[in-house]
Amino acid sequence: MIVYGSEIAKDIKAEIAAKIDGYVKDGKRRPRLEVVLVGDDPASLSYVKGKSKASEVSGIDFKLHHLAADIDQKTLEDTIAAIDRDATVDGILLQLPLPKHLNEKAALAMISDAKDVDGLKLLNKGKLFIGESGPRPCTPKGVMAMLDHCQVTIEGARAVVIGRSQLVGLPLAKMLLDRNATVTVCHSKTRDLQKIAKEADILIVAIGRAKMIDRSFVKAGAVVIDVGVNRIDGHLCGDVDFEDVKDLASIITPVPKGVGPMTIASLMQNTLEAYEEKL
Ligand code: NAP
Repeated sequence: MIVYGSEIAKDIKAEIAAKIDGYVKDGKRRPRLEVVLVGDDPASLSYVKGKSKASEVSGIDFKLHHLAADIDQKTLEDTIAAIDRDATVDGILLQLPLPKHLNEKAALAMISDAKDVDGLKLLNKGKLFIGESGPRPCTPKGVMAMLDHCQVTIEGARAVVIGRSQLVGLPLAKMLLDRNATVTVCHSKTRDLQKIAKEADILIVAIGRAKMIDRSFVKAGAVVIDVGVNRIDGHLCGDVDFEDVKDLASIITPVPKGVGPMTIASLMQNTLEAYEEKL
């Protein structure tokens, strides 16, 4: 079964829009998301466009602060701090990566914990790792929603996550563990990667290597979630060799239209939740 995140995301956004309509009918304002983008990286521009569109469909007010690539750290921090002080802003997203001369951690620190809809701040990461509720990073949250949508049994399953980034692999491993999967996290120094991946009932790949995972890494009947986004000759592809693996997996996600739209739907959910928390 090929699972299109784009279809699941549509339903999530429709649910959010209905909820927000209800709040507006009760005389309340709409939730508000503001995005800070530095520079003109084409991938970032395209992600921001996706977030803007999704906000429109979901009934969330959206504003983009598009800053020049050569902005200095202080101006960036002052800009974020000013957005953060605005009580009508529920969620702030700093589009990453930043240009090399800027300090990501210091910039993120200007976003208050309650408005951290990406779930990337220290407190919110800590909440995930001690099992307290809080905004979860959008991509792992989207992957979990996909697994649940497909009614994949997570408890007791052998899950292998390839990639250990702060953004995807590491939080995802913790979220799978919290649902009682037996989780193995692999990375660039892992020995026998093929053998370990082949043991997975649920194989999640987030490495950023185009089509690296072919059928030699996949057990027959496994659920394969491809988080990777790579560009070859202007075309998008995942970390999984989709054509090679699709007949072997019981469930597989495509790239594009797979995890990407779920990441954005999770951002909409986190923004709505931040707004509701304030209400
Ligand atoms: P990242 O920070 O670069 O981390 C990549 C991870 O993959 C690292 O842990 C690295 O291991 C591991 N790795 C790299 N090469 C490997 C190899 N040959 N074998 C095994 N492991 C290997 O990347 P990221 O931010 O997690 O993103 C991963 C991919 O997902 C990228 O393609 C990115 O564009 C995509 N992505 C998609 C979405 C979405 O919404 N669809 C969201 C975020 C990211 P080490 O730790 O040992 O270096």
